Amino acid sequence: MLTKILILISSFSLGTAIANLRVVTTTEDLRSVTQSLGGEFVEVSSIAKGTQDPHFVEAKPSYLVAVSRADLLISIGLELESGWLPLLIRGARQPKLMPGEPGCLSVSEAITPIDVRVQADRSQGDVHPLGNPHFMADPDRVISVAELISSRLSQLDPPHAKDYSNNLSSFKKQQVEKIAHWKKKLAPYHGTKVIGYHMSFNYLFKYFGFEIVGFLERKPGIQPTAQHILSLIKLAQDQKVRLIAVENFFDPKPGETLAEKTKAKLVLMPAYVGGDEKSKTYHEWMDHLVDDLEKGLK
Ligand SMILES: [Zn+2]
Repeated sequence: MLTKILILISSFSLGTAIANLRVVTTTEDLRSVTQSLGGEFVEVSSIAKGTQDPHFVEAKPSYLVAVSRADLLISIGLELESGWLPLLIRGARQPKLMPGEPGCLSVSEAITPIDVRVQADRSQGDVHPLGNPHFMADPDRVISVAELISSRLSQLDPPHAKDYSNNLSSFKKQQVEKIAHWKKKLAPYHGTKVIGYHMSFNYLFKYFGFEIVGFLERKPGIQPTAQHILSLIKLAQDQKVRLIAVENFFDPKPGETLAEKTKAKLVLMPAYVGGDEKSKTYHEWMDHLVDDLEKGLK
């Protein structure tokens, strides 16, 4: 009894806010955006870390515990998490988190994807059969994602709907200011030809007018081969590629080989929020990506 009283006293005296909604996200970029929108009324954790490839995550028991306690599970969708999230949802045995229920939100509902191929072949390891799921690096699409998340928070926690709406307005205002800043920084590099590793930065490149001419992966999810790198060396020379952008959790060697044999510069970039020390929030991450591109091209 005494312990209970002490806990009560300490939580009141510290003014600790009790989160209304427990949210689990699949990626760190979703976690950061959801935290901005939910503020003090949500407690958010991410399953995949920013240093991890979210296509390939081990469904650990600790993730199962986190999911089973959640009021809301937010995923990217477009099969980004298809190798592991269904296992966690099934294992959590929470009817409110089942697909179609308000506690289960796939934010790809809010956007139209790019890189949709007519004949995607899963049997050859293509991990983007429904189009490119890496849309959180798209400055406009993330606004649509934020609107969807905010509306779901309000649906699940109506007493704080006004707060969620205000937080959404602040996020959008900040995003619009950031977009103007990023566009100004990258305007001189419009039309620059780049080679990527995976397709993680396609939305970012397209948004800022870069031209993507190839990838170190032969297909999304398939590691580079020596023969493919040779063909990329020729392509980079012919096309005068200036930049090779590689997600920092991949092996840098194929990109280094390509950079050595061509005039292109290799940049290793965090593919997600939390991908490095400087990218703790969504806006810090995007600032960092824009800075990396600018530095690589100066
Ligand atoms: Zn991918």
